[in-house]
Amino acid sequence: MPAPRRHRPRPSTASGLFQVLSWPRPGGVIVSLAGAALVFSAALNFAPVKADPWTTFFEEWTTTNAASASVQPPATPTAGSGAPAPATASASPAQPDATPTAAAATSAQPVAGAGADSAIQGLAAAGTTGVGDPALLDIGNAASPLVLVNKQRPLVPADFAPSDLVTPAVQSGSAEPMLLRAEAAAELERMFTDAAAEGVSISLKSSYRSYDTQFSVYNGYVATKGVAAADTTSARPGYSEHQSGLAVDIGDANAGTACDFNSCFADTAAAQWVAEHGADYGYIVRYQPGQEPMTGYLPEPWHLRFVGPAVAKEMAVRGYHSYEEFLDISGAPDY
Ligand SMILES: [Zn+2]
Repeated sequence: MPAPRRHRPRPSTASGLFQVLSWPRPGGVIVSLAGAALVFSAALNFAPVKADPWTTFFEEWTTTNAASASVQPPATPTAGSGAPAPATASASPAQPDATPTAAAATSAQPVAGAGADSAIQGLAAAGTTGVGDPALLDIGNAASPLVLVNKQRPLVPADFAPSDLVTPAVQSGSAEPMLLRAEAAAELERMFTDAAAEGVSISLKSSYRSYDTQFSVYNGYVATKGVAAADTTSARPGYSEHQSGLAVDIGDANAGTACDFNSCFADTAAAQWVAEHGADYGYIVRYQPGQEPMTGYLPEPWHLRFVGPAVAKEMAVRGYHSYEEFLDISGAPDY
């Protein structure tokens, strides 16, 4: 057991573990047991669909979002637009009210909810998940950067709202107010800045969405496309990563808006840059091609999820394409 020390993960941690840990990736992709523990999600009282006369999602999005801005705008933006960006985000020094940094390095307990032999447990055993508070080493904890959210895993409680939302100081490509959890925001600022230095102009299109906002978004889809089609593109309220305050949708300011929220976004410089470098900032492309049986969503090269640099880099190094597989959790193709 390592002596308590300030968390300063070495860049080589991921690759070192890669060599040490046995390779066999968690295979069994779609394990049939959706799990009795997950059945509760079906029992959740899902509100009936409202028949809003929406035409298109994006047409209404701004209106909806503005109307539902019940979320308190942050009193203070993240520490300076310059984004001092600590060398390692996992130490999360910008976190105002969360875990003491000192504890961050030393929690070497298993990640609750993840498979016993899953890749993330290798990080946990080494105390290098980047998550210090033991209570947050739990993929079922909505307040954890490790939280798993999918069609079988709603946030608990369903109307969860993060307590440390801030406005990231980045280029916005939308009129909607932008909010993210503090650590995710700080890393996003660093990522956008570094991308810009290489001529890649990423813009932020969407970020935190409250339960109420997601309710409107999802039902807007249902009203125009029906439930089945809506479920392939929009999460039901309580089931959206955006509600965790850890997910963003991005655009490419140099490429115009034609490919926003569209499969052709994958061809933009922004999409390719984040696919290659996002892990350095703790972001993964959450819904990748061919992963629908695991993630439940068609590919979304614009949707990034913050899991912290340690986890994101480990996933990249070991070649995982879904967070579910990294956690050795059954796929969630449907509700
Ligand atoms: Zn998204």
